[in-house]
Amino acid sequence: MTSLAIVDHPKKAAAFVADIDRAHWHDQSLWYVRIKRDKQAASLPEWELLRETASQIKANVVANLADYLEQFANEATKLGAVVHWARDAAEHNAIVLNILQSRGAQKIVKSKSMLTEECHLNPYLERHGIEVIDTDLGERIVQLAKEPPSHIVLPCIHYKKEEIGELFHEHLGTDKGAKDPKYLAEAARQHLREKFCGADAGITGVNFAIAETGGFVVCTNEGNADLGVSLPKLHIACLGIEKLLPRAADLGVFLRLLARSATGQPITTYSSHFHGPLPGGELHIVLVDNGRTDIAANPDFRRSLNCIRCGACMNTCPIYRRSGGHSYEATVPGPIGSILAPARDSAKYATLPHACSLCGSCSDVCPVKIDIHQQLLTWRKEIAARKQLKWSKRLGMQLTGWVFQHPWLYSTLGKMARWTLPWMPRFMLYHGLNPWGKQRELPSAPPQSFRELYAQRQKQQANGGSVTPQPSPHSPPSVYSASSKVN
Ligand code: SF4
Repeated sequence: MTSLAIVDHPKKAAAFVADIDRAHWHDQSLWYVRIKRDKQAASLPEWELLRETASQIKANVVANLADYLEQFANEATKLGAVVHWARDAAEHNAIVLNILQSRGAQKIVKSKSMLTEECHLNPYLERHGIEVIDTDLGERIVQLAKEPPSHIVLPCIHYKKEEIGELFHEHLGTDKGAKDPKYLAEAARQHLREKFCGADAGITGVNFAIAETGGFVVCTNEGNADLGVSLPKLHIACLGIEKLLPRAADLGVFLRLLARSATGQPITTYSSHFHGPLPGGELHIVLVDNGRTDIAANPDFRRSLNCIRCGACMNTCPIYRRSGGHSYEATVPGPIGSILAPARDSAKYATLPHACSLCGSCSDVCPVKIDIHQQLLTWRKEIAARKQLKWSKRLGMQLTGWVFQHPWLYSTLGKMARWTLPWMPRFMLYHGLNPWGKQRELPSAPPQSFRELYAQRQKQQANGGSVTPQPSPHSPPSVYSASSKVN
């Protein structure tokens, strides 16, 4: 169903970029993580083999999803878990609420789970009088700020430590103006410990579920998932159906890829394995579809289900890094989110596949080799075919298409642009009608077109001469070097 509120990514991104300091710092912080990822990837000679293996395992899972799900459900039941099936977010939320209410659970500690974000579980439970505390530190920070996460691995990456200090002062009573990360982390620890000790139930997400054994794995760096389900006797695990792996032996491939791709660590600090409930406790596993089988049935986009939610595509994406996660207004932002969100509602999220420079960096870093930028391109075609593009973009595309169909016109316009651009006053180039000029400089006009350069080289080679690049007849004027770029 199409929602009325259309996501306007360019508008939201413009608001983020307007704060130049924050946008720059956000960009640099994520690039730092990307560099750490590169070092880790380069340290393993078998990196590409791991990626290829992971890609093939996931393709097998998606192709045989029903069989693996059945096998997992049977094995998990044998281990003592209760397995529930949810077609959509509403069913998932109702199942979780029913379990909690029937056991009188009022206070819940939850570890990070993008699936429960996708289903909007927190507000749903809160509306029914249940307290839900997110126990991942970053998640707790955005929960206190009443915001969704802006990144799937680093939920509060858009926050500076001074702002977290303010938030903690307001909600946790820390000293005014305190910004020392150790002091703030200790305050959060004390606050969360109280919540862990008083919890009636723990909810976790699932990183990998093993069809062969019926067990599953939750990866955290803070150990909060373990603590959250070790103290209370009731554990509810919310599992997107694409998170399955066939065999326990497959797990090593993914655990080696996940942390390296996500944060540049060799391994996540805690990889907790669950096989059935605690002695005397209860384990409920809610298997959630919520549109996944529709994606699996679509040959253009089914590979997006391979995603292991490492966030590497976000850390490398030049658009995500400069526009911030909230500008996507989707549970999963960034490149992979721009495939998944239109699969739910292409009219609402029509701008997201265009939030991409098609540089392909996301596909290069993806540990499960998803062809992300190719799928974004496919979405663009799909959205245009469904007539969901904004009229201004449609008009622009039609005009460009028309110019491309007339080579003489293309060449004349190119020549005119090369002559006039260097001499145009800055205000004629950088204005509201030129979105390319926002926060970045147009490139210098080259002296010749590609065709001219090619013809010239052919001629020189035919004459037996060496090819020498021609100097520009127009030196770029100072407007091109007076950069106000973000980065
Ligand atoms: S698409 Fe690939 S890189 Fe992006 S979050 Fe998923 S697994 Fe990681």
